[in-house]
Amino acid sequence: MKEYTVTIRFYEELNDFLPKDKKKVAFTLCWKGKRSVKDLIESLGVPHVEVDLILVNGISVGFDYIVQNDDYISVYPVFERFEISTTTRLRPQSLRTPAFICDVHLRKLVKYLRLFGFDVLYDETWDDKDLAQIAAQQKRILLTRDRQLLMRKIVDRGLIVRNTSPQKQIAEILDRLDLWDRVNPFSRCMMCNGKVAKLYNNTEEFEKEKPRIPPGVLSWCNKYYKCTQCGRIYWEGSHYEKLTKKIETIINQKSNT
Ligand SMILES: [Zn+2]
Repeated sequence: MKEYTVTIRFYEELNDFLPKDKKKVAFTLCWKGKRSVKDLIESLGVPHVEVDLILVNGISVGFDYIVQNDDYISVYPVFERFEISTTTRLRPQSLRTPAFICDVHLRKLVKYLRLFGFDVLYDETWDDKDLAQIAAQQKRILLTRDRQLLMRKIVDRGLIVRNTSPQKQIAEILDRLDLWDRVNPFSRCMMCNGKVAKLYNNTEEFEKEKPRIPPGVLSWCNKYYKCTQCGRIYWEGSHYEKLTKKIETIINQKSNT
């Protein structure tokens, strides 16, 4: 079998997946037999969904490119902000309305993303196969801390969440996908992901819902919202204030970095 030697380098956050001695440096790889560049990259532990651009000797190639002896390979992450418009992106352009799906370990992140107004699916009963399938069918970005999950072939868009605290996780996602401009707090139900709409006072609908609002709240509050999906009623009470503070803290952290 033919022997191959190449030099490869990974950029930016793709280095998170590599062992110390391979981070942020060009290193040499040797093996025997034909291999696609996708196979080579994943054999180093980097999920293909995190890769947006591969340059071989300065020219952009697709995942199915068969690596040649002496190639110099540069691998760039998804949503990398530097200008690469003159080259071929491997991913579709960023989604107009980003939608997510989270694995079972990211329950708290789901709540935060919804609180910030993002569309996020989550169900404790879904296994890896379900998650990958729904992500592919509905073109959702799969968020997980499990590399293996993102290495499934049908997964096209996905991100490994690096942080462990939910507040840091949401900042990380918004940073990496450049989504701070799309934050729209309290527009989505934290429980069911449905859209939340204003419930206007003195309407027929309000009168119908009135018995569900505690009298102690009715006496002072005049701003109500209702989930268009599960019917849950929200009002601007102490819980709302607490959440507003949380949102502000996260946004302020962002402007400090
Ligand atoms: Zn709801």
